[in-house]
Amino acid sequence: MTPVLPGATIGIFGGGQLGRMLTLAARVLGYHVIILDPDPKCAASAVADRVIAARFDDVAAATELANACDVITVEIEKIGADAMAAASAIVPVRPGGHVLHIIQDRARQKRWLDEHHFPLGPFWVANSASELEVAMKSAGSHAFVKSSFGGYDGRGQVRTSPRDDAEAVWSSLGASTCVVEKGLDLEGEISVMVARRPDGSCATFPPALNHHVNGVLDWSVIPAPIPSTVAREGVRIARGIAEQMDVVGLLAVELFMLRDGSLVVNELAPRPHNSFHHTEYVSLTSQFEQGIRAACDLPLGNTESIRPAAIANLFGELWLHDGATPRWEQALALPGVRMHLYGKSPRAGRKMGHVGAVGSTAEEAVALAIDARTKLTPR
Ligand code: ATP
Ligand code: MG
Repeated sequence: MTPVLPGATIGIFGGGQLGRMLTLAARVLGYHVIILDPDPKCAASAVADRVIAARFDDVAAATELANACDVITVEIEKIGADAMAAASAIVPVRPGGHVLHIIQDRARQKRWLDEHHFPLGPFWVANSASELEVAMKSAGSHAFVKSSFGGYDGRGQVRTSPRDDAEAVWSSLGASTCVVEKGLDLEGEISVMVARRPDGSCATFPPALNHHVNGVLDWSVIPAPIPSTVAREGVRIARGIAEQMDVVGLLAVELFMLRDGSLVVNELAPRPHNSFHHTEYVSLTSQFEQGIRAACDLPLGNTESIRPAAIANLFGELWLHDGATPRWEQALALPGVRMHLYGKSPRAGRKMGHVGAVGSTAEEAVALAIDARTKLTPR
């Protein structure tokens, strides 16, 4: 396998904030970057050499991207199979089509994890409103019903009780295949990021502890303040998945921590992840640089974090205060606080950026990141 060396051109499927941050890391390492995204003004467009504006299932555009690049990686999993195949016939695409095929379909992803004996909470796959009704009743006091395709940031899923009208839930989620999960009593949520090279060598970041509000990541801290046995088990599971799925590139594994300390896999993402943005501040290698190294088949960087760090997400609401500007100086005046904005136009609920903070403990880092976010809010 020949590494893709600095000076070469990297293609990225997807130009959202993750694509933008991958592009910045690639540029630091001396690469050129071409983005394929439906929006010519996508977040990555400001930092990439070129954007090919096309849908993620556009085979001709994927071919054009591949012909202009030395390697391709992804920031989003919903790339069409035919587009992946066309690109892979020309240059290495990392992670490959087989990984996206499993992960982009929630039902298929669950079944794969189950067949490979990774720990999961109870789940059912429903292909009709009546199957959904049976599953919602079997799930106990409450369930999470998730459409099999296209959900993110808590969209495309609803929390239900057995008394809810399955017919209404079915149509609200687009009347297509759903995964029904038993609502679990969580001690907490963690994620593990694995990077893997074509020869199978791996590096993992220490797990992050994540806090969600209404199904959306609100803040995250690394290293997760959890027992080391739980952290080791999380890393073991995540690495096992990356190996058995033969992922080359990045794989983020979201895990639920149950009250007895055991872990079950929630879901997978074959790309950088919101819960590892703090690696930019305190890890010897950021997740973005690591993703570029893995895709280019370069030696993986050291993943040690030198201090605890947290990020808190900034949502569109912050900009929607009757035209008042967020109070940037207030947040940036806090010692150790960093800020990253994605250059997107604000909409309610949209992830617009994050603030980061370091601390001598995880708790201190989280408190400072949240304080910085609060100080940004216009009065
Ligand atoms: P994201 O894109 O933010 O990762 P998503 O829309 O793909 O999210 P999930 O990760 O499936 O959604 O779920 C979002 C959050 O909802 C979880 O992180 C967790 O807080 C809660 N949740 C989801 N499923 C369950 C469950 N079975 N039991 C308890 N909580 C759950
Ligand atoms: Mg999730």
